[in-house]
Amino acid sequence: MVENWVLRFTDASLIACLDAAKNFASSGDDWHNHVIKPGCVHNPKPGQYILIIENNTTGEILGHVSEESPVETEKEIVRLRHGDDIIGGVPAKMPIGSEPEILKRARWLNGKDIDWHHHMMMPSCVLNPRPGKWLITLESSLSESIYEYETDEEPRLVLSEIEALFFNHESGSK
Ligand SMILES: [Zn+2]
Ligand SMILES: [Zn+2]
Repeated sequence: MVENWVLRFTDASLIACLDAAKNFASSGDDWHNHVIKPGCVHNPKPGQYILIIENNTTGEILGHVSEESPVETEKEIVRLRHGDDIIGGVPAKMPIGSEPEILKRARWLNGKDIDWHHHMMMPSCVLNPRPGKWLITLESSLSESIYEYETDEEPRLVLSEIEALFFNHESGSK
């Protein structure tokens, strides 16, 4: 179970978050982003979306709080962080039978059109309850426990498919 935490961040505009992501990407810093959705267990402002830009080299954490999903800005930032091929193309399908439970669950939830989201917690992420590991978590709007997938190396195949499933569902349900 992922422990709850209070996320502290500096309030910033959407443009300032995007600019910061571009600067961090070009400076080679260890950085990443999160989108904290209204129903997320980690949300210190329930009912609102928070776009987070986290720089683990400098310790800066910027956040933009909004009523609306920042999904388009999020896509741009995910591309900056993980490369163009992580979303937008055909998802890399893990061979049937070898995919982890978290991926089966994401596919199933999309099929049922049930709201869900995931968190990619990188080894240095302040949210990561197991620092040093790569951890993907999945929360759905069903009352069920959080799915976790932990690895020592970047789980690129799983991440690529889960990002594609997430953005397909998120864009389709708007
Ligand atoms: Zn969440
Ligand atoms: Zn983080």
